[in-house]
Amino acid sequence: MAAEIKLKPGLYIHIPFCIKKCPYCDFYSTADSRLIPAWLDAVKREILLYREYSSSFSTLYFGGGTPTVINEHAMRELVGFLHENFTFLPGAEKTIEANPNDLSRENLKMLRDLGFNRISLGVQSFDRELLEFLERRHTVYEAEQAIELIREAGFSNLNIDIMYAIPGQTRDKWISTLSRAVSFKPEHVSCYQLTLKEGTPFWNLRKNSTICMPEETDEEAFFLETAKFLKHRGYLHYEVSNFARDMKYVSVHNSLYWKHHPYLGLGPAAHSFFNNTRWWNCKSVKQYLKSFEDGNTPVEGREELTDDQLRLESLFLNFRTTGGMDIESFQTFKRVGTVLPILEKSNLVKIKDGRVVPTTKGLLVADSIPCLFL
Ligand code: SF4
Repeated sequence: MAAEIKLKPGLYIHIPFCIKKCPYCDFYSTADSRLIPAWLDAVKREILLYREYSSSFSTLYFGGGTPTVINEHAMRELVGFLHENFTFLPGAEKTIEANPNDLSRENLKMLRDLGFNRISLGVQSFDRELLEFLERRHTVYEAEQAIELIREAGFSNLNIDIMYAIPGQTRDKWISTLSRAVSFKPEHVSCYQLTLKEGTPFWNLRKNSTICMPEETDEEAFFLETAKFLKHRGYLHYEVSNFARDMKYVSVHNSLYWKHHPYLGLGPAAHSFFNNTRWWNCKSVKQYLKSFEDGNTPVEGREELTDDQLRLESLFLNFRTTGGMDIESFQTFKRVGTVLPILEKSNLVKIKDGRVVPTTKGLLVADSIPCLFL
């Protein structure tokens, strides 16, 4: 069943609302909750556009933004409408991203009733000072309470998102956050490096030297320390930033992206990939709403990938996961005969079961390795 599920398309819904913007975040979202009713109507119209698109989906993923900021009425209406118009495989992974202080016994029960079976909780840190620095709207206590409520509500597939390379974060502080995270025995942990994108408030603070980001060598040390720490506690490091307690907890939805399987994304800024074609919606909610008012679709761009582009993307995506690439496909790239032995000797890749797979050190430079074959 699991293998079959992975081959079916996934469905992503972008819920672009946050109570307030975090100063480091460049994901598209707005704090204007007055737009929620109009956004909901527009998403329903977009669902109808794709009603015949897939016979069934293997995953449902509510991402954002902060999906848990929409109220119960909107959540029920959206999920109900999705099920009226699409079908999902039995046992489909259904994830919702959540902010700790949006969760209560009541809404967790509602999310369970609506069929969600996986929660991805944005904790970011179990350190009070760092949470304040990041201007998160939850406290450490609220994050811990949320995890307890999630378990109490019967969710047996929990991802905890945490972040390293935060200004002022020492190794000890990071290990302490990692230890606290694994003490809750989450089925999955995502550990992201804080990277600043142009246009965010933190980017400007770094530019005028108000905040100081860690050196590259410190970032590498955080990465390697994380991999070692979680491996020793039984977690599989299966993708650059992702760790699962067992193969069955590997994120099915995100694996669709990494394996080039099809997915449909609905809502502002959502991307889709079907039949070797990728398309994406306009980012802004207002523009998204206007496109429907004008009788258009919200699709802003589209590209059909050539065989060469597909091969190249596969190379980049495959080197982000420990599944790597099968050796036959790998050998079709230029300079393999010269570069592969060097990568093996440098302990960046190894050959395992007929596949070229990145080592932990290789995952650290996952985005650079494929460039050697271009
Ligand atoms: S809650 Fe998440 S999506 Fe919203 S601004 Fe903060 S980091 Fe970005």
